Amino acid sequence: MTPFTYMRASSIEDAVKFSTREGHRLLGGGTNLVDLMRKGVEHPTALVDVTALSSEIQETDQGGLLIGAAVRNSTVAAHPLVRTRFPVLSRAILAGASAQIRNMATVAGNLMQRTRCLYFNDAAGSRCNKRELGSGCDALEGFNRYHAIIGASGSCVATHPSDMCVALAALGAQVHLAGGKDARTVPLVDFHLLPGERPDLETVLEAGEIIIAVEIPASPIAGRSTYRKVRDRASYAFALVSVAAAITTRDGAVDDIRLAFGGIAPKPWRAFLAEKALRGGPATPEAIAAAMDTELASARPLAGNAFKVELAKRTAGAVLTELTGEGR
Ligand code: SF4
Repeated sequence: MTPFTYMRASSIEDAVKFSTREGHRLLGGGTNLVDLMRKGVEHPTALVDVTALSSEIQETDQGGLLIGAAVRNSTVAAHPLVRTRFPVLSRAILAGASAQIRNMATVAGNLMQRTRCLYFNDAAGSRCNKRELGSGCDALEGFNRYHAIIGASGSCVATHPSDMCVALAALGAQVHLAGGKDARTVPLVDFHLLPGERPDLETVLEAGEIIIAVEIPASPIAGRSTYRKVRDRASYAFALVSVAAAITTRDGAVDDIRLAFGGIAPKPWRAFLAEKALRGGPATPEAIAAAMDTELASARPLAGNAFKVELAKRTAGAVLTELTGEGR
């Protein structure tokens, strides 16, 4: 591991100032960054601990929540307002990692975590455009069971590993940023970038910008929301496919719906096409299946993960059917 120094930021201004210095990286719980340093993927020369910043969960005037960047994942999952108003978020976090990791990991760190692509993590022996732009991608012809089926490119087919972000995408969360020219707010669905020709660029953060909070808008539909994760083993593992969903019906028709996928794309994948196809129409298994076909029509699976297309359709279908009561 490259030797590094450690310091603590006591204010947003401090964190912004240090983050712009050469070789400096912000440190939340360290559950991903420190792993990557041990593997030789990341080589910061200084870690700036930002866990002293904004660690509160506040109710907004409109009935939503403002969650500070340094709030631990376990605190979010256990918060009474999260559990009652946004159960999909609590469930996603609980499905995401062991209690020990949830106790350390922070909200901002969760957004900033990097892919668990095996080749990305193998700095000593694999080609990876995300680690070293232009070097190639060993996943394209390699073991790609866990890789993306939609939104990827010929440069990178990695998936985003977060469960929490899938729930936040479904909930229409906003990411509050500071440190740029002006403070700004970015929809969570726009925060992560698709790889295109630049898989090394993963978020819209500009130099000196940091995450200071995530805001979840009030949403009556979210009170009846859920998260389902399909993985290769029952203990903690990354998703093959996950689904965050909320749906309400009126007189047998879909009144409102939120749907997002994890495990299938380089970013949390909000299923806008499926939502549009379903809204106002019948909430039947057949209509849901047709909407999933529409959403995944542009899927381009790899040799090792074609099963994910059907798995995504069936998982979303099962979750929505359960939420609408059609399956009972
Ligand atoms: Fe690297 Fe992306 Fe290829 Fe994985 S899929 S090896 S992260 S370029």
